[in-house]
Amino acid sequence: MSKSLSRRSFLKKAAGVGAAFPFVERFPEVFIRKRTSVSSIPIILCSRGEEWGKKVMTPGWDLLSGTGDLLDAVEKSANVVELDPEDMSVGYGGRPNEEGVVQLDACVMYGPTHNCGSVMALENIKTPCSVARLVMERTDHIQLVGEGALRFARAHGFTEANLLTEEARLRWLKWKENLSDKDDWFPPADGKYEHEEEDEERTNGTINVLAVDKNGDVAGITTTSGLAWKIPGRVGDSPIIGAGLYVDNEVGAAGATGRGEEVIRTCGSFYVVERMRGGMSPQEACESICKRIVDINGGPVKVKFTDKFVAVNKNGEVGCAAIMGKKGKEPKASFMTEDGIKVIKATYLIEKPEEDD
Ligand code: ASP
Repeated sequence: MSKSLSRRSFLKKAAGVGAAFPFVERFPEVFIRKRTSVSSIPIILCSRGEEWGKKVMTPGWDLLSGTGDLLDAVEKSANVVELDPEDMSVGYGGRPNEEGVVQLDACVMYGPTHNCGSVMALENIKTPCSVARLVMERTDHIQLVGEGALRFARAHGFTEANLLTEEARLRWLKWKENLSDKDDWFPPADGKYEHEEEDEERTNGTINVLAVDKNGDVAGITTTSGLAWKIPGRVGDSPIIGAGLYVDNEVGAAGATGRGEEVIRTCGSFYVVERMRGGMSPQEACESICKRIVDINGGPVKVKFTDKFVAVNKNGEVGCAAIMGKKGKEPKASFMTEDGIKVIKATYLIEKPEEDD
């Protein structure tokens, strides 16, 4: 039996009911061409392509490649995007909830102690992952939410700020005023907004930063402003340990972006790490969770959302797979090693429909 066929039958066996869907044929191609990204440690990886990847990972890489600390490396990297108002899906400048208030979710996990910390629905603090780190290091708890998380941040001297930028406010207002013609909010008489982008995707951000240091120790952070226009208090997968992030020092780390509800109900990042523990490569493990999510939703015809997973194992091998993608516009991740920055194009299960472009 050829290698490709045995891969196929393995997938079908593993896939159970979902094996009937034709899309299962897509990933085996990936197994055949198999990632040659066998990498090295130290390594830092983030769930963005080259442009953001470079900005975000450089401070982390500078620490990892020198004598810097692993947790500092992932934190300083994640802070870059949290503090940048240009990014509208993480930290300062993130899209607000349905009331126009920015509520941030973030978590951190540290392999050597298997400890973790998380904040949810945190307002007014630009760097939620740094607060999550303090929850991990300076409390006996793992999760703090809302007002309690804010008070904790205040106690540690974080400065409060309005996180809603003009750009985010204008986008929110446009959404709000066009929701219904049965409420009391009207769009401008000429229908024109300063900001004219149509049909914004509500889930299109978040960042995962994962790293393995010289000793093979592993850590990760996930940080986000979550689903745009969410119901106040909604918490996605990003700050949930095992969903938006999971780290195991014997195995590696994984992180998720995209529709959080699906990632929560599959314990997505935990699933990826456990599959790596069972012998899968990071790439195979990322693909297997995408397939699992599509299967439990009734197959590709029913799936109208996407999730993307990134993973790294202790040896510095990386993986990235998504539910949806488009040829030439594949979702991306990137990583840095002593060989510089490299971009990984995600493999994906479902070709994104034309109208989603
Ligand atoms: N996963 C995030 C959430 O559901 C959103 C995203 O990644 O775009 O809150």
